[in-house]
Amino acid sequence: MFRRILIANRGEIAVRIIRACNDLNIESVAIYSNADRDSLHLKMATKTYLISDDPIKGYLDPDLIIQAAKETDCEAIHPGYGFLSENATFARKVVQAELVWIGPNYEVIENMGDKNKARELMQKNGIPIVPGSDPLNNLDSHSRAKIANKIGYPIILKASSGGGGRGIRVVYNESELESSFEACKREALTFFKNDDVFMEKYIQNPRHIEFQILADNYGNTIHLLERDCSIQRRHQKLIEIAPSPTMSSDLRRKMGVVAVAAAKAAKYTNAGTVEFLLDDDNKFYFMEMNTRIQVEHGVTEEITGLDLIGRQIRIANGEILDLAQSDIHAQGYAIEARINAEDVNNDFLPNPGVITAYYPALGPFVRVDSYIYKGFKIPPFYDSMIAKLIVRATSYDLAVQKLNRALNEFKIRGVKTTIPFLINICNDKDFRRGHFDTSYLEEKLQSLLPQETKDESDLIAVIATALAAQFEEQ
Ligand code: ADP
Ligand code: ADP
Ligand code: MG
Repeated sequence: MFRRILIANRGEIAVRIIRACNDLNIESVAIYSNADRDSLHLKMATKTYLISDDPIKGYLDPDLIIQAAKETDCEAIHPGYGFLSENATFARKVVQAELVWIGPNYEVIENMGDKNKARELMQKNGIPIVPGSDPLNNLDSHSRAKIANKIGYPIILKASSGGGGRGIRVVYNESELESSFEACKREALTFFKNDDVFMEKYIQNPRHIEFQILADNYGNTIHLLERDCSIQRRHQKLIEIAPSPTMSSDLRRKMGVVAVAAAKAAKYTNAGTVEFLLDDDNKFYFMEMNTRIQVEHGVTEEITGLDLIGRQIRIANGEILDLAQSDIHAQGYAIEARINAEDVNNDFLPNPGVITAYYPALGPFVRVDSYIYKGFKIPPFYDSMIAKLIVRATSYDLAVQKLNRALNEFKIRGVKTTIPFLINICNDKDFRRGHFDTSYLEEKLQSLLPQETKDESDLIAVIATALAAQFEEQ
């Protein structure tokens, strides 16, 4: 087994990886920027390494990170999620530097990172994909309109190398097509340095169903059941459930077989995820493959009893998968709620600051993956997710109830969080019944926004008006 691993990440996932290392008796090296000096991952790692004064650049610099790994005598690098985790160049450089990359081969990352290439490969292998196009950049507007008409509105424009819900635009008619295409291209260039944009048929009110894949280096590939990630805001997941509360075992079997076939077609190794859209008629379509550990891997861990990060490390170390598909069964239902430091009543604006009180939820079948603590100052430079609350129960109903209990118990003071909003979702009858699709949050947003904060702002408005009136009188 590896003696020491470098973690090319920060925040909760760095902490999660350190825990997996400790469980396996592996030493860990945490890299950090100056802005992350007080981060929990530094306190927990065996060794720390200042990667850059800049808050972002160090985490995104393959050469600096490889140098850090060499200097600290590491044998492998775990990239976590985000940052360089899906950067094929980084993965290649790691291998060329004779370090082990804890993830799939860089060629697989490159192929699956391009949504068009991925779609093409899947189609060749008989995997159903959403009707769509190749990149539209080299066509004139007339040809683009023709393709859209052929597919039929609404369509969805997507950046070929997109991720995190960015570079996506839904287009309802031809008059919006060109302006949306230009906007999508600009966003793609800004975020992904590649402005290739293609289109797909926009599936109305689908569920987002994804299968967790585990594959060793010797052709053994299984799936660890599915997650329903339909609760999304602006194409970003907020709540994830495993297994899907509404899927029949027949459909699960069918989709599972296709997910494994997709992973095999991609020559996939290590942990990865095949994402599908599932429509009203139970027709499903390959959407993309994520070549890294997902934010929501914890719900799969909870229902399968498998440590996914530990498995990633063991597979990268050359272990043969000692699990067959028939070994994989769900123990109840797990739900994850992402707790973000955001002002939900102000368009979910990030709300970094000092944590003045922190009481995470506890009790049976409640898990919190986080990196914050009382007195910690959340830096403003990174993602606003500060904790993942994961619960498990024997049925979906009981899992929602437990999530509700745990959210009410979870106290974070000093910054505004998504907790009150998440509580409202738990109390919503459609959510409780499992009646939701990817449009659920956008449609119900107003009714789910917490009243309390609204009252506070109303009160402030009343006081402000009164004060203003007083000044006018003077
Ligand atoms: P997924 O479940 O597919 O990871 P997400 O919406 O969570 O979907 O993430 C999309 C992209 O944004 C991924 O590249 C992921 O690594 C990154 N990302 C999401 N949340 C975070 C976070 N809290 N910190 C860093 N990167 C994140
Ligand atoms: P990302 O790489 O940003 O995760 P995805 O291609 O996975 O992008 O899409 C993100 C989300 O956008 C999906 O989970 C789904 O809610 C929505 N979406 C993507 N493609 C379609 C489609 N063809 N029809 C309807 N919704 C879609
Ligand atoms: Mg996706």
